[in-house]
Amino acid sequence: MTESPRVAICPGSFDPLTLGHEDIIRRALGLADRVVIAVSHSPSQIKRQLFDVDQRIEMIQEVFADEGRVKVLPFQGLLVDFARKQGATIVVRGLRGVKDFEYEFQMALMNRRLDVSMETVFLAPEPEYAFVSSTLIREISALGGSVDQFLSPSVARRVAAVAR
Ligand code: ADP
Repeated sequence: MTESPRVAICPGSFDPLTLGHEDIIRRALGLADRVVIAVSHSPSQIKRQLFDVDQRIEMIQEVFADEGRVKVLPFQGLLVDFARKQGATIVVRGLRGVKDFEYEFQMALMNRRLDVSMETVFLAPEPEYAFVSSTLIREISALGGSVDQFLSPSVARRVAAVAR
């Protein structure tokens, strides 16, 4: 009997994709056969958007161009429904510290209540990325600061182009 492939889903807004996100996605690839990156439509009503969903998908595809086990898709609606359609049973979330934990824990329990087969796995990034967030990247770049050290070169080029 052949086992079905283990599919993990990494949901987020990725506006823009940071080295912190990349670190978590590469760790997820170490745990699963395939990884679906689910790019949510709006980061949130109050957060100003830097890139639209198609641009964010493009930039992620560019970074993971050599990784055939990664699929990048737009995502809207209920995560458990989307994950099920993709054959994913693992939700991977990155934890930057205790501040992330409370909300993430609540989401994990809720998602498991909505779908008992859905397990959430929390991964810690390299400490050097633990303070990196897309929100801060957007803010620093809007204020004219350099954010290159937190982004892959192809993402940094896109951020620099819109910041101009
Ligand atoms: P952000 O909170 O930066 O807007 P997203 O909503 O795109 O990020 O988050 C997608 C996933 O990536 C979440 O699980 C989030 O916790 C994780 N994540 C974001 N930045 C980092 C980081 N620097 N280190 C580890 N995980 C991160």
